[in-house]
Amino acid sequence: MTHGDMTASLFDTADANAPPRSADEILHEVFGFSDFRPGQRDIVEAVLAGGDVLAVMPTGGGKSLCYQLPALIKPGVTIVVSPLIALMRDQVLAMQSQGIAAASLNSANDREDNWRTLQRAIGGDLKLLYISPERLAHVETIERLREAPIAMIAVDEAHCVSQWGHDFRPEYRQIGQIRRDLGIRQTVAFTATADKVTREDIAERLFEADCSVFVRSFDRPNISLAMSQRDDGRAQLLSFLKSHGGEAGVVYCQSRKKVDETAAFLAAKGYNAVPYHAGLTREERDHNQDVFVREDGVIVVATVAFGMGVDKPDVRFVFHMQLPKNIESYYQEIGRAGRDGLPATAHALYGFGEVRQFRQWIEESDAPEAVMEVERQKLNALVRLFEAPACRRVQLLAYFGEATAPCGNCDMCHGTVETFDATVLAQKALSAVARTRERFGMEHLIDVLRGERSEKVEKHGHDTIKTFGVGADQSKKVWRSIFRQLEGIGLAVPDPNDYHAWKISNAGWRVLKGEDTVLLRKDTMSLKDKAPKSSTAAKELPTDYDEALLAALKGLRRELANERDVPAYVVFSDRTLIEMAAKVPQTSDQLRGVHGVGERKLRDYGPAFLDVIRDKASGTA
Ligand code: ADP
Ligand code: ZN
Repeated sequence: MTHGDMTASLFDTADANAPPRSADEILHEVFGFSDFRPGQRDIVEAVLAGGDVLAVMPTGGGKSLCYQLPALIKPGVTIVVSPLIALMRDQVLAMQSQGIAAASLNSANDREDNWRTLQRAIGGDLKLLYISPERLAHVETIERLREAPIAMIAVDEAHCVSQWGHDFRPEYRQIGQIRRDLGIRQTVAFTATADKVTREDIAERLFEADCSVFVRSFDRPNISLAMSQRDDGRAQLLSFLKSHGGEAGVVYCQSRKKVDETAAFLAAKGYNAVPYHAGLTREERDHNQDVFVREDGVIVVATVAFGMGVDKPDVRFVFHMQLPKNIESYYQEIGRAGRDGLPATAHALYGFGEVRQFRQWIEESDAPEAVMEVERQKLNALVRLFEAPACRRVQLLAYFGEATAPCGNCDMCHGTVETFDATVLAQKALSAVARTRERFGMEHLIDVLRGERSEKVEKHGHDTIKTFGVGADQSKKVWRSIFRQLEGIGLAVPDPNDYHAWKISNAGWRVLKGEDTVLLRKDTMSLKDKAPKSSTAAKELPTDYDEALLAALKGLRRELANERDVPAYVVFSDRTLIEMAAKVPQTSDQLRGVHGVGERKLRDYGPAFLDVIRDKASGTA
């Protein structure tokens, strides 16, 4: 795309006679979206009003639009500070393909390119200028920007400002000073980190006075949630992939070795799978990430090193082979699925060995006691989420301080995991713990319950207590599952400081005294992914469309994307193609009504897509 082309864009600043357009018009005509996502309108209005704004929105919530859209309305150029060059590049490409005058300034470009870009900003030919924080702090950049008509600074990933956030970037600290220096009136900041301390820190560092703060829900209703115990991990993965054929997804593994093995295993089974971990060379990693982002339906098998800076909206699933590290990590990792708002699936496997191991790591660390206690609580919350016999989303959001009703889009709500009144069983187990004075581990307690006269049982005289043999009707496997669930819902926990002897919590004592009932899961080995593919929570997608037409449209998309050297979704999203295949538009006007088709894309891609649609229609007629 040439610069001449850009200056003749829809936002040609020389076109002073054109009537100003409203936010809604721009949303439809430029972005091709029919509605704002929840929360976007309020934020856009606040940004347009001119004050400082801090918005916390979960990943995939649609933060970018909240500053991109106002940037198109405000006179002058909006400076976007973004920490990741790769991300910047894709965003700029996406905007250019929508006819927006956007460019980036970073160390990956050559000097001359950067110089020309600054010149365009100064000349008023740019609406959005993306800058890395290091580049912004350059004296040279600042000097040149003095001449530019700057509308506002938009700070992406604003938690990087704060040392309380998880990836503190010292250069972010200078943004406030630069703003004063350049006399810029407005700063707007965006992050997916909701934590209150971090929020206050961000506001203090970036803003001069008061700001409007928006905190959106952490719910990602389009992601269906499921967790199951690992039985045979590979078999479970394959069975999951059967119902997710041809979809792009991430499979997370705990170690590099597991990543390599699993990727090779999937490749041998005919899947298009690539590995990703810190042990690969930089070139290999970049290449594999690129393949994943650009090609359709690729599976990336990765350690948690993967994800930061990957902005692929159409990831359809995230599959964990092991228990994630904590709820924050779990949330961040599954958040990479379904950023386009279409149905996506998060399925995690876990084994109790991992829980044990995590507990061990915490106790063996030489962190201060207060830190260890926080880690213990985090682990307990994680186990509760994975083991509790109730809606996953209720548990997950409760952890982030949000109350919600059962979601209807998780394995618990779907009833793929059956629960039953297990008060009596729980009382038996707890009574075994109580009557052996909270001094024994699970296997011994199970022996007592099942009436097994082991050496240890006889040595301690546990064959004489009342609980001896009261659980002989259940197998060891069942009892283990019951203990894990009791731990999950916090009725009793093994104490790692006391040889994993089980202790009863206050809630556990209430059950033992008959003051509370207990619901447990019948089958913690549920391996099937019975969740229906489309959920009511996600925006309805047409299901009645011509598969052959969709395949042809995807083919054209790939061709156009390759020609332009951009990821496929930059041309059109999956949703757009599916709607096309369902509505079968015949004219530009009809095509305009399809999700994601703005004026610029209509002009650039419309004719080619209409050709394919007409071809197919006449072929089948
Ligand atoms: P994040 O909040 O993670 O930065 P993005 O800004 O990247 O999210 O947006 C995530 C996805 O949502 C993108 O594919 C974007 O095009 C899409 N999106 C944003 N706003 C809307 C909207 N109003 N309607 C439909 N899709 C939207
Ligand atoms: Zn639910």
